[in-house]
Parts: sequence; C-alpha cells; structure tokens
Amino acid sequence: MTTDSNWTVEDAEQLYRVKRWGAGYFEIGENGNLHITPDHTNTDMRIDFKSVVDEINEIGIQFPVVVRFHDILRSQVRNLNETFLKTIEEAQYQSTYMGVYPVKVNQMREVVEEVVDAGAPFNFGLEAGSKAELLTVLAYNTNENSLTILNGYKDEEFMRLAMLGRKLGRKIIVVVEKYSELIALVRVAKEMDVVPLVGLRAKMNVKGRGKWEGSGGDRAKFGLTTAEMISASRYLAQHGMSDSLKLLHFHIGSQLTDIRSVKDAVTEGARIYADLHHMGFALEYVDVGGGLGIDYDGSKSTSDSSRNYTMSEYVSDVVFGMKEICDLEEVPHPILVTESGRALTAHHSCVVTEIVGEISASAMTFETDVAENEHVLVTNMRDLADSVTTQNNLQEIFNDAVDWKEQALAAFKLRVVSLEELAKIETLYWQVMKALQKRLVNTDFIPEDMQELEYNLSSQYLCNFSVFQSAADTWAIEQVLPVVPLSRMNEKPTVNCSLVDITCDSDGKIDQFIGESGMSNIIPLHSLKEDERYYLGLFLTGAYQDVMGDMHNLFGRLNEVHIFSYDDDPDDFYIEEIVKGSSVNNVLSIMQYNPDSMAQSVKKVIDKHIAAGEIKPREGVKWIDFYEDCLQGYTYLKTNRDK
Ligand SMILES: *Cc1c(COP(=O)(O)O)cnc(C)c1O
Repeated sequence: MTTDSNWTVEDAEQLYRVKRWGAGYFEIGENGNLHITPDHTNTDMRIDFKSVVDEINEIGIQFPVVVRFHDILRSQVRNLNETFLKTIEEAQYQSTYMGVYPVKVNQMREVVEEVVDAGAPFNFGLEAGSKAELLTVLAYNTNENSLTILNGYKDEEFMRLAMLGRKLGRKIIVVVEKYSELIALVRVAKEMDVVPLVGLRAKMNVKGRGKWEGSGGDRAKFGLTTAEMISASRYLAQHGMSDSLKLLHFHIGSQLTDIRSVKDAVTEGARIYADLHHMGFALEYVDVGGGLGIDYDGSKSTSDSSRNYTMSEYVSDVVFGMKEICDLEEVPHPILVTESGRALTAHHSCVVTEIVGEISASAMTFETDVAENEHVLVTNMRDLADSVTTQNNLQEIFNDAVDWKEQALAAFKLRVVSLEELAKIETLYWQVMKALQKRLVNTDFIPEDMQELEYNLSSQYLCNFSVFQSAADTWAIEQVLPVVPLSRMNEKPTVNCSLVDITCDSDGKIDQFIGESGMSNIIPLHSLKEDERYYLGLFLTGAYQDVMGDMHNLFGRLNEVHIFSYDDDPDDFYIEEIVKGSSVNNVLSIMQYNPDSMAQSVKKVIDKHIAAGEIKPREGVKWIDFYEDCLQGYTYLKTNRDK
C-alpha cells in the first residue's frame, strides 16, 4: 500500500492507465495534471489540460464541454496514410492506398473539414451511407483525385445525386448493397448519360469478433451473396458496362477485437477479387471497410473495448495479405481502400464535466448516544460497532449487522422502533461496514457476501452531464470509455466512486472503469473541496459518441471548444472556435413547443397575479425576465460560479 505522502504520478499511471489508452497523445504530467501531446512529430508541444479548463472558465463557457483537439485528428489521418504508404513500400506492393473517412462516425462539419484538409496530400476521400451524408460529401469532397464511396441502402434519387457527382468530375463509386440497386443504377446512369463507377459489397463468410460481429455471416444485413455478385458482374457486361465495375467492398464490423478476423477477411476478399479478375472483370480497388479498433480499456486484449493489435499490424495484414494472394493468383495488386472512422476520430475529442456533488449512504451520521429505554436493536448494533475492531469472526459480525438492520426496519413498520432509533441503527450499521471493509483489505480471502462491500460503501459522484447525450454507448452496449480526473493526480485519490449523471434515469450512470487489475465497478477519485472545482474527463469520445447522443430529459448538445496547438503561445494552444451547445429554447422547439408563446402564457398568469395584488408589478417583471433568461440558457446545471 502506498501512503498518502509518497504517492507519485507513477502510481496514478498504474491506476488510470493513461499511457495505455492514450496512444501517445495523453499523459499524466509531473504536476499531477493531464497533459496532451497533440502531434507525435513535435513532442515539445505539450498542453496542460488545466490551462484549457481555466481558459474555458475565463471566457465564461459553461460546463459540461466537449473539447476537440484538431491536431490529434490531423495526426491520426497522417498516421494512417503514412503507415499504409510505408508498408506498401516495404512489401513492394505494386499499387497504392486511397483511404476514405466514413462520415457517419462523426459528421460534425469541423471534423469532416479537418479530415479532408489533413488528408489532401494523400488524396484521402470520404464515404457516405445515407442521402444526407451523400449531399454532404458532394459538397465537401472537392478533391477530384480522391475517392467518394457510397454505401448503405439507396433509392433512385440517391443514384441521381451520385451520377451528378460523376458529371462534376468526382471519383464517386456506388457500392451495390442489394441486387435491385444495380438495376436502378444502370437505368439512371443511362438516362443521365454518365459512366458510373460501381462497387460490389460482398456478404462475407468470415465473422468479425466483437460487438458488431453480425456485420458478417449468412444473416448479415448488407451485401451480395456469391451468386448475386457473379450475376451482377454479368448484368453490367450485358449492358456494356463491364469497365464500370471498379471495386470490391466488404466490412465485417466495427471495433474488430481480434486480428485473426482481419486476416481471414482479407484472404476471403482477395480470393473474390482474384476470381472476378479471372472471369474477365478487371476491378481496380479492394475496399476492406472499417473495423480498425481502439484500445479503450488499455488492455491490448480481445475484450470488447480493446483489440489485440496495433494500427501498424493491421495495415501489414491488409497489405501483405492482399499481396500474397494476388501473387499466387497472378492478378494485379489492387489499389487498397479502407474506411476507418473510429481509429481516426476517437482520440480527438473528450467530454469535460464537473463533479457537482457526492451521494453516499453513509456520509450523513446521526448521534448514537445511549438513550433511556432504547430499543434492544440499537444497543445490539452499538455493541457490535464497539467490538468490530477486536473480534475475529468477520462473517458473523457481517451477518449480525445485516440481520439487525433488517429487523429494525420491520420493527419500525410495526411502530416498535422510532424514526430516531432507526437513524441510529443505520448510522451504526455503516460504521460496522466501514470497519469491516478496513479489516478485509488486509485479508487474502474475502467471503462472497462481503465482496460487494467495497462497492456498497463507495460514493456516487454526481457529474453535470447526461450519459445518454455524451456517452450513449456506455449505456447501450457497455462500451468502456476512460475516465480520468484532469488534475490532482499527484495526490492519492481517497474516495472510491462510481459516477451518476443528472438525468432522472437510474441507467444514467457509469460503473465500468479501467482498474489496476482489469475492470472495476469503482474508480478511486479525490475528495471534493469547498473552494476548488473538480473536473473529470471522459476520453475517446470522438467516434460515434459525439454524434449519437439523444435528448433524454431534454438535455441538449454540449458547448464545444476547438483547440489548436500553437508553438509560439506560452500555453502551446489557443481556442480556435466555440460552438454553443443547445439552449433550452432549441430543445423545446425540436419537441414542437413554441418557447415564445410559453413565455407569453407565463406572463399572462403573472399579470393576473399582479392585477389581484398578489405580486408587486416590479417583482412580476423580474420573474418574467428570469423565465425568459432560463429559456435562452444552457440545459445543464449552472454551478455557483457560472454567471
Ligand atoms: C460504420 C462503417 C464504417 C466505419 O467503421 P469503423 O469501425 O468506425 O472504422 C466503415 N464502413 C462501413 C460500411 C460502415 O458501415
């Protein structure tokens, strides 16, 4: 055990594992604050998260806040492209790499713009999976040398938009997910007199491991069977469009946890590509889809929130795997395409929330002095509390305490024990449990009944945010996201906690954390101080979490600050943009309310009370102003210092 005084940031690293999930971007600084190195190629640039938080407070932005590090996003785009180019050279692969970013992973305009800009030197393109996304990529992927890949289910209007893209000179490839789409595509292309670029999505036999393994196998929702792929190729040939068949696509699922499924998919895909070549269809591209995983829990394992490979290993398996089969089959090496979204975006954004309170069953105590004629259960529990440090049968103490507390509750209902006596019994009960837990820390074997003690005695820290808006996947699919205090990590954390949000939903909580040895349902954090705000960061939220949240309880989108690193600045950064989150007005309007008429109707009622002399006119005006201000305000809690 480390004592309070010799706790170091290395101990904090052991506990929070920042380096393991931080991918070189995040680290605990010597001063105990979280530090960010947004660019691996310039490690002199280090941003202290505390200064970012201070500046957000200075400019009066209310928390919770999404903090976006645009340089991390750019670094990841560069990493992926450079890793492919390097591996292609090493492998003497006879073609190149042209990746695309699937916008569904984070459709925020700023994210898409940054990816396109950072990817320009590599002709990195975009992928769309719906009509709205297609309209977006038509406007934003202006680099004619990059690919635009269209997946998802399509109607005629979708096809027409895609063909418009062709007329504008874009390399737009329509990936056929369903046989009937091909017929519509051919018809529209002929009608508009354009040569389409066609891709076929293969329904793969290999299944990815992980939460999204349903993306492969016979029951997969997407893709063509082998028979359909051959018919599709022939259909194009019949219509004089053999040359339009350009790309083979597959995607076996997101967050692939096991590298073996990547290898298997590449092998299966390469075989399909080669045989189509042998059949006379000279496809140019093989698109291996997304799936490149993120190590959310830092375990480098095949757990659902991790992966047992690195980006480099993934790229090697794609490049070398494709080369091996193509060489065996004597077909040309195709241009490689990936649709990695999660891997590009996850690290670049995080949610910063302030702890606004502590909920603990044992925090508030009641005086437990002996009273005249007190009920025997009070006396018993007091004796137990007095003897708990000296007695040796811990199991018996535990059983007695639980038993007597239950009896007390029954006795209370029967009007035998008073409310004050019940408060005494509960206070003593928690004293016993705390003492028991202290003693258990030093024993090797913890009986089953008592294994929950640590969790039951832990506090709940109340976080000013909504899980449903900001961390949808922790609720929906038990996705683990790293949680770390942004400061005080040079101080021993003394409070075992789980986290709860401010929604009126008992599911609005986080109780899966990265622990020193595997996952834990509690996280040690620091005790709250009267005069100092305590901020937590919820990290790796840039992929999906940023855009999938909902408005449960009418908590809306978060305020956002966009951070750019800047060498010449004393703090190495500046806030480039502030995007205001939803106001109450915004979320009410979405739900079909009319906030103006709501204010009107409240005003009418206040006027009535003024007329009746129950509210003074000056006071009434103030109330109306107050109501209107709140409508314009943020949907989250205002803490004392927010003005
Ligand atoms: C969702 C999706 C992706 C993105 O997958 P990641 O695992 O986030 O990289 C890529 N391609 C298709 C077809 C998708 O549906």
